Amino acid sequence: MARYVIGVDLGGTNVRAAVVNRQGAIQGKPAQQLSRAQEGFPATLDAILGTIEESIRAAGVPRSAIQMIGIAAPGHIDSLHGVVRWAPNFGEWREGLFYEWREIPLGDAIQQRLGIPVQMGNDANLAALGEYYYGVGRGQAKGLVMLTLGTGIGGGVVLTREQVQGNAHWQGGVLLVGASGGAGELGHTVVLMGGPRCGCGATGCIEALAKRDAIIERAREKIRRAPNSLLAQLCGGDPARITPKLVSEASEQGDPVAREIWEETGFYLGVAVASFINIFNPEVVAIGGQIAKAGAVLFDAIRRAARDYAIPTLLEMCRIVPAERIDDAGILGGAALAWQGVQEG
Ligand SMILES: [Zn+2]
Repeated sequence: MARYVIGVDLGGTNVRAAVVNRQGAIQGKPAQQLSRAQEGFPATLDAILGTIEESIRAAGVPRSAIQMIGIAAPGHIDSLHGVVRWAPNFGEWREGLFYEWREIPLGDAIQQRLGIPVQMGNDANLAALGEYYYGVGRGQAKGLVMLTLGTGIGGGVVLTREQVQGNAHWQGGVLLVGASGGAGELGHTVVLMGGPRCGCGATGCIEALAKRDAIIERAREKIRRAPNSLLAQLCGGDPARITPKLVSEASEQGDPVAREIWEETGFYLGVAVASFINIFNPEVVAIGGQIAKAGAVLFDAIRRAARDYAIPTLLEMCRIVPAERIDDAGILGGAALAWQGVQEG
């Protein structure tokens, strides 16, 4: 009998799930429901369970063929114990105060209700693992570092045994998770001391300089100074209507102001990428998230900065490329983790 896993992408707005085979092919249309992230744990748990059940029906495979469930969740995830240590987007309101998820035993809860073993990890970490196996890493690259650009900037580091010296016996790519599961916070790499304040409390992190809102803010500044630019025309002179997608449209049509926005954004990202190259010497640096769809103007700027700041002999064999599985990153990341769990079990 063919065997499958289920990848689950738990987000602050939606929870998505799909049955996935060993080669990373999604079976049927992914199921999706609202994650009810601010209605308390029981409501979110119901949404997750309902979405998983729906994904099994959509795939048309027997329940007994499902070997493992892999969950990609935002926040600090203790993958060993299946516990969400902290997830700031999830929780519940009580008497006007929002109580964030802390120490939520999500893995056990799902396992008990469905009778299928569960593995969990941080969503950005797992996006890197999914991209390693089912995307640009092809399951063969000697190491992959990934940034996911969006409302924040997530990161993940996949290591292979070629990258370590000593007695490593693992096969394929494994995730760097650190001592308590929190490693890979690449978005908080500081590239501009004293720069803009970041959500983490530090200043000048690449997240503060290149997340969605930072790009929009940069664009607003520019059109204030260039009211006749194409970008200003495309948003009808209303700065509130600027989105990264609109900046891309303008730059694709040759607007120099819009190009500058991507060039500056890419510069900061590229300086950080240079550090990742120096630290991990990966064969691939993948850039994912919807904002990575900005295309060549962004990637040229990232590569230029990487060339200026990385050690040349380390840069030589490194490919800095867009992620290939941007839209299903969470599902495929969860699935990749689940398949690793099946192999070990
Ligand atoms: Zn930060």
